Amino acid sequence: MNTISHGILGILFYKILNIINPELFIININILIIIFIISNIPDIDIIWAKTLESHHKSLLHIPLFWIGIYIFSLFFINYIFSTIFIICIILHLISDYICARTAGIKLFYPINNKEYSLYKLDKPKGIKKIYKQNKKEKLDFMKFYLKNKKLIAFEYGIYIITIFIIT
Ligand SMILES: [Zn+2]
Repeated sequence: MNTISHGILGILFYKILNIINPELFIININILIIIFIISNIPDIDIIWAKTLESHHKSLLHIPLFWIGIYIFSLFFINYIFSTIFIICIILHLISDYICARTAGIKLFYPINNKEYSLYKLDKPKGIKKIYKQNKKEKLDFMKFYLKNKKLIAFEYGIYIITIFIIT
């Protein structure tokens, strides 16, 4: 899943909270930007990962790590903010699991090291980072990315639903 899709999914979740309780979950541009950024925090590991298929291997894509952070944060930070934060992160991990093409999610790390994904992973397609690919490799990756029509429908369906609900 790409950066915009992760951000939009977080915004969709926050908009649902806003519909349920508009006084508590107010919407303004600053809050939406914060939600967008939080929803993309796990993908910071793309900076130091050597390849696309390895970027899910850091702690930032490990559910247990975030559950630990959440429990820890409850002692110091407002629980409503902490809970919104953790749900945005969990939504990121769930959507990475659903949309995984080259890198899955280590759902049960450290109990086991297996990467899980809804569809079968094609690791060789993720041996380079997007910005390190030449033109032909980028085109090939784009074809590969667009091949699974269900995932494309899921990813862009979220855009349409969010635009429909938010306007
Ligand atoms: Zn991710």
